[in-house]
Amino acid sequence: MSSRLHVVYTESPSLDSLRPVLAELPQPPKDARITIKPNLVVAKPSSSGATTDPELVACVIQYLQEAGYRDIRIAEGSWVGERSTSHAYRVCGYEEISRKYNVPLIDLKRDKARKVDSSGLEIEVCEEILATDFLINMPVLKAHCQTRITCALKNLKGCIPDREKRRFHSLGLHRPIAAVNSIVKNGWIIVDGIIGDLTFEEGGTPIRMDKIIIGTDPVLVDAYAVQLLGYELRDVPYVLMAAELGVGSADLSKAEIVEHGEKDADKIPQQPANRVAERYHGIIDQRQACSSCYASLIYALWRYEQLHGRLPAGTSFAIGQGFKEKGAGDSVSGAGSPAQIYGIGSCTAKVCPQHVRGCPPTAKEILTQLEDWLS
Ligand code: SF4
Repeated sequence: MSSRLHVVYTESPSLDSLRPVLAELPQPPKDARITIKPNLVVAKPSSSGATTDPELVACVIQYLQEAGYRDIRIAEGSWVGERSTSHAYRVCGYEEISRKYNVPLIDLKRDKARKVDSSGLEIEVCEEILATDFLINMPVLKAHCQTRITCALKNLKGCIPDREKRRFHSLGLHRPIAAVNSIVKNGWIIVDGIIGDLTFEEGGTPIRMDKIIIGTDPVLVDAYAVQLLGYELRDVPYVLMAAELGVGSADLSKAEIVEHGEKDADKIPQQPANRVAERYHGIIDQRQACSSCYASLIYALWRYEQLHGRLPAGTSFAIGQGFKEKGAGDSVSGAGSPAQIYGIGSCTAKVCPQHVRGCPPTAKEILTQLEDWLS
């Protein structure tokens, strides 16, 4: 694994700008089964800041096919809020790529999975991923409402079945994210930092960053992403946990950062990330909440305040699998009296008389219910 990171500054991906960088990386064996893992967490185009630019994926496929590689596929499993990944493949422009380059699209939500041990923690991983010889991890550089950032390490959460994604949340996210990376090895990491989202994993507040980050060490890539978004390593525990498991190095002082192309200072986020989600942490009691559920709540609160001004004082929320059992609500924390604590998602049905149904509920469903409750 190399301590070298490449940063390609560009407004749009091109094979000409990527070819020399990719040629410098360790090349896959000629007969390798190659899997490209983009981030298609939701069915939204890359302009939303949520998903990997299909043009970037196309450049990588072109490079590989020029070099004589034939066994290439694209594999992804969208978040638990999406029933299938095929909708995201269609909306995000991947069906066109599949046809043009004759590359199959694999929906990991429909794949079988196998349990694999990582330092005492058993994790179910999709068989398609376990059968891969060379994984090309292509995340988007984004904020995340629970883990603060999502980049290379967290992108591999799309390689496990939905039931395991839910279990990851009940395990606190950070440790299992680190553990899955000790099982699934990255060949190359190519981060789409052209348009990201500094607020939400599922996009909606896109920001142009005009850069592609390329490396082979997912821990180093994420350590770089952490500081790029204005955080410290201690703010994103799974990065150091992955380093402790031997996945890679988080020591940026030993990294060689090689820059390519012209960077436009106006477009590079010099300021800390827009921490909308953190504004609401004090009024949300979250216990093992799934990302899609939590993000829906954050987005709904944000939209509510945009539309109606500040939330009434004392309003608070309960969310997550930790509220499934009756009695869990006895100690719901937050500023409000029990009557002012609203449940989010079907997990809170037994605990909160007033709750939004759904698993996960959409932001729109939560917003509609908030407007009803709080007006
Ligand atoms: S309702 Fe519960 S299980 Fe369903 S998405 Fe929300 S936190 Fe996860």
